[in-house]
Amino acid sequence: MIEIKDKKNCVGCTACAEICPKKCIQMKPDEEGFLYPVVDKSRCVECNACNTVCPIQSPVDEKEKLQKAYLVQHCDEKVRLDSSAGGAFTAIATVVLQKGGVVFGAAYDENFHVQHTYIEAVDELKKFRNSKYVQSELGDAFCLVKSFLQKGRWVCFSGTPCQIEGLSRFLRKPYEKLVLVDVVCHGIPSPLIWNKYLEYQEQSFPNPDNIRFRDKFYGYKYSTMSIIQNGKNVYHAGSQLDPMLRAFFSDTCDRPSCYECPFKKRYRVSDFTIWDCFSVYDFDKKLDDDKGTTRVLCHSQKAASLMQEVMEYARCKEVSADKLVAGVKEMFESVPMNLNRTVFLADATKLSGKELFEKYYPVTKKVKVKTAIRKVLLVTGIYGTMKKCLNRVRGR
Ligand SMILES: Cc1cc2nc3c(=O)[nH]c(=O)nc-3n(C[C@H](O)[C@H](O)[C@H](O)COP(=O)(O)OP(=O)(O)OC[C@H]3O[C@@H](n4cnc5c(N)ncnc54)[C@H](O)[C@@H]3O)c2cc1C
Repeated sequence: MIEIKDKKNCVGCTACAEICPKKCIQMKPDEEGFLYPVVDKSRCVECNACNTVCPIQSPVDEKEKLQKAYLVQHCDEKVRLDSSAGGAFTAIATVVLQKGGVVFGAAYDENFHVQHTYIEAVDELKKFRNSKYVQSELGDAFCLVKSFLQKGRWVCFSGTPCQIEGLSRFLRKPYEKLVLVDVVCHGIPSPLIWNKYLEYQEQSFPNPDNIRFRDKFYGYKYSTMSIIQNGKNVYHAGSQLDPMLRAFFSDTCDRPSCYECPFKKRYRVSDFTIWDCFSVYDFDKKLDDDKGTTRVLCHSQKAASLMQEVMEYARCKEVSADKLVAGVKEMFESVPMNLNRTVFLADATKLSGKELFEKYYPVTKKVKVKTAIRKVLLVTGIYGTMKKCLNRVRGR
């Protein structure tokens, strides 16, 4: 029976709960808001299926394979602006829907909690667009994927690398009509902190229409957290000002397993890996229009042939796979744990959202000055040039 002695050894992928023949494993939140398997020992038959399926306990070896690489920009400008990067995910998902398939991804429910769900029509894809920097609840998504595949349907499943490895282990065998899409993942913040953030913003912006982690209000190079209320963009703050983004980028609230993530690698079990391309000018200056570009790495022959269909919906420029992954730290290295993580998450159980964020992420004079300077740099167009230089120095 599965027993999580060290929380670093559980990514919360649900594979153990979903595979259990007795359905005696439930995913329950711990005090930090992350879901972990809890076994009803009285019903467990010690079949060990849960340990065998676990992608951490029984890892798959990384196998070098031929890869194709692309820079992708969706042809529909609205879709591209709505997406975190260039809208490659929408283009890949559209190809699967056109084959009569279903698409799984992370969406908000009516209370802005992030969960995996599926859709069957192209106009519903907007639910999945835009990264939500909070761990999504998978529910019974893995079982649903299996049942769609068994009915002969095409299925596209998108998620974090740990979710994709978990699903792949759960399914046990390759399916011709399954398309796995993972993101390059910085790390995955706690749903508890996200709830605190919702509570904090609710005071100033009640009943929002949408909350976007990666809004392009100021362009792609400086995307912001934005709140849309009554159809208007009423709040937009970047990573130096918004407390949720500050917590995310300072690695203060990620799942324990993220700090030693075993899925940070180049060769993956997915068909596609997608991530941002802020330095598109290093590949092709003509593509650098500050509206967003997705880097797409194809790991399988299936992905390479689907790319021919993706080209109907998106501009795709083939590039060298080595160049695409060069200097991409988040693909290879886990984030370092912030020293404040333990106290921040402990305080989150006691303090209100306002108290928590004002304590750890106060809007000091320094933050205000930084924000003002950034706005001036943006308006004058200097920001883009500075970011280019910075990316070059960092080798990105
Ligand atoms: C938690 C997280 C961390 C990331 N970290 C990095 C990074 O460090 N560097 C980098 O270059 N890119 C990172 N990305 C990927 C990047 O933000 C874009 O998602 C990617 O470039 C694809 O953009 P797009 O425009 O093609 O698709 P979008 O339209 O932006 O598609 C979003 C896709 O992400 C999935 N998704 C959204 N939120 C979640 C979630 N909470 N859990 C699982 N899946 C989710 C959706 O299902 C959909 O498939 C991260 C994404 C997430 C979700």
